[in-house]
Amino acid sequence: MTADVGRIGVVGAGTMGSGIAQLACLGGYRTVIQDPVPEALEAGAARVVDSLGKGVRREMWSAEEAEAAGGRLEAVEDVGELEGCDWVIEAAPEDVELKRRLFAELAAACGPEAILATNTSSLPVTAVGAETPNPERVVGMHFFNPPALMKLVEVVATADSSAEALDATTEVGRRMGRTPIRAKDSPGFIANRLARPYMLESLRMLAEGVADAPTIDRACRLGGGFRMGPFELIDLIGLDVNLSVARSFYAQGGEPERWRPSEIQARMVDEGRLGRKSGTGFYAYDDAGSGRPDVPLHGDASKERGERVGPTLDPDDLAKIDPAAPEIVPRLVAQIANEAAFALEEEVGSPQDMNTAMRLGFNWPLGPIEFTDLIGPGRAVELLESLRPGRGDAYGPAPGLIRNITSST
Ligand code: NAD
Repeated sequence: MTADVGRIGVVGAGTMGSGIAQLACLGGYRTVIQDPVPEALEAGAARVVDSLGKGVRREMWSAEEAEAAGGRLEAVEDVGELEGCDWVIEAAPEDVELKRRLFAELAAACGPEAILATNTSSLPVTAVGAETPNPERVVGMHFFNPPALMKLVEVVATADSSAEALDATTEVGRRMGRTPIRAKDSPGFIANRLARPYMLESLRMLAEGVADAPTIDRACRLGGGFRMGPFELIDLIGLDVNLSVARSFYAQGGEPERWRPSEIQARMVDEGRLGRKSGTGFYAYDDAGSGRPDVPLHGDASKERGERVGPTLDPDDLAKIDPAAPEIVPRLVAQIANEAAFALEEEVGSPQDMNTAMRLGFNWPLGPIEFTDLIGPGRAVELLESLRPGRGDAYGPAPGLIRNITSST
């Protein structure tokens, strides 16, 4: 039976907390947003109201609906005031000690029946819930930024999470108008993990001199059908943020070679080249965040539409983009197929959910399993094996990918 959720608590009124609170209000829930910093609480609650108004102007909902949603919001400073919430999501800063403490306080304030969810992107959910007396009530619920626009939400199951808590959380996600998928508590869950090879393989190709960053980006956009090239994406995320994500994956995964963080990226971070926010990264920006002078992201879109050939692995079509593209795109797709095979083996999620995660979470033109079908496991393994000499374990094919060759021939 799915637990009935009536009153939602949102802990942390920052970027994510305010976005999630807005979705909860629109989903019809009485919503209590909490933040110990009075200015942050006030600003977060104001963002909810603001954004509800914006939605009316964009005809996403009516003025009446916005008003009713705004009327469901209550703002409080103390965790104790979340008493009576039967489902709580925590979106406080990414610090495991802080979150662990908060979860213990939440369990005491809301009682043994309340479901406690964390929006953490990179910490193990199990570690966040380690000090709660009812670990079966603890789940992950990972939203994407900005929550109001990104449809994907990952519902993360620890070894202890009960079916009831997971089902209730999935139902909350649906009522918030999102598309929930189910992931196992494991490094980066599904979406961020499957995005690893897109960035890391591109960084390795850059390090090897296969092509420069703008060429790799163009090959990915035009030949791979990706919305943004990997280096544009890293510039947008911030090289420092992306590097700390890379380091966290590497550590949590037991330092597998294919997740080894890029030395180029570490050097650039040391030099203060952090991407858009610092004015330079892989590209130079006019002023922080305003755009790229060399390869305009949006300005050339119509021209680029005519040049787009992918997603494809056809060497002749790819060569129309750049002579290096027939090497770039298949390497990337082989590594995506490989990561998906490792993730499937570890039962991180279902094939369907993996496809949904990357289409909705990262705007990929195909999901990783669809990319695997495009290249075929046989060709993926062959390509990975051909790249192995001198490069080592970063190219070791997943056992599941090798097994698939037999089942698909
Ligand atoms: P943020 O810094 O914008 O907001 C954090 C808020 O938490 C601040 O308002 C702060 O005052 C408040 N806070 C500090 N201590 C607190 C406490 N003890 N109790 C309650 N609130 C407290 O951060 P954010 O970007 O909204 O991220 C929040 C969480 O969501 C993190 O775990 C992050 O990893 C995760 N996340 C972030 C993104 C993203 O793109 N920003 C995406 C997915 C998940």
